[in-house]
Amino acid sequence: MRDIARNGTRGLQAVETAPCGPVHLVGAGPGDPELLTLRAARLIGAADVVIHDRLVGAEILALARDGAVLLDVGKTPYGRSWKQDDINALIVSHARTGASVVRLKGGDPAVFGRMDEEIEALDAAGVGWAIVPGVTSASAGAAALGQSLTKRGRNKSLRILTAHDVEGFAEQDWRGLARPGATAAIYMGARAAAFLRGRLLMHGAATDTPVSAVENASRADQRVIAATLIDLPDALAAAAPTGPVILLLGLAPRSAAVEALNIREAL
Ligand code: SAH
Repeated sequence: MRDIARNGTRGLQAVETAPCGPVHLVGAGPGDPELLTLRAARLIGAADVVIHDRLVGAEILALARDGAVLLDVGKTPYGRSWKQDDINALIVSHARTGASVVRLKGGDPAVFGRMDEEIEALDAAGVGWAIVPGVTSASAGAAALGQSLTKRGRNKSLRILTAHDVEGFAEQDWRGLARPGATAAIYMGARAAAFLRGRLLMHGAATDTPVSAVENASRADQRVIAATLIDLPDALAAAAPTGPVILLLGLAPRSAAVEALNIREAL
């Protein structure tokens, strides 16, 4: 667009024939701006257009330059709810103007971020793209607990699950998840606590399996809700989180874990 203004019709032709993009599909991390990658910060600061999700906070959006267009395509409880097709079309249409476009998503864009649909739309439109990974909420949640996501002797694998899919609550490999030591980061799980408990107990999980919920991981209003599988729904109902929540199955906050161990030993 700037070329059009500067060069008149010659510029316009140049824009129409020039390959546009790349659109950067950027991870904004879990909330703390210090957990942005340097690349993410640089691209946000240089973008003409930032198309962002609701989970991306004001401090991160403040890195955009004066005059950049910020477009919120997140779902707000009472506002407009964007359809994925409309988001795809919006990204493509801005990229086609020759603007530098950042598509900014919470956490890592490749984890439950519907990134593939956007990539397919960009490919179909002949617009280039590049992925900039971010810190996913599983990592920020584990950090809040003072725990590793994997640990020698406890878990050789880590599962990344969503509690919801297009059909409602998502079915999983419950038998595997119910085994002692199984560790999973469960996204979009706050409202699925009773379902998760039911499925896991049915497949043999111990009632005292630790499950931690971390609300607003990495943000100033971060909250850790420590529970066991049996009391998870009650613990969440009592805490009534309003921010995003990551559930960490098999992990207790380090201090609580130590306390629980001491109590057991003292008995
Ligand atoms: N791409 C994101 C996940 C998007 S799905 C990522 O990599 O983190 C949205 C879910 O992510 C939320 O329902 C919640 O489970 C989780 N989430 C995102 N940000 C979070 C945060 N700061 N604290 C806790 N959970 C978070």
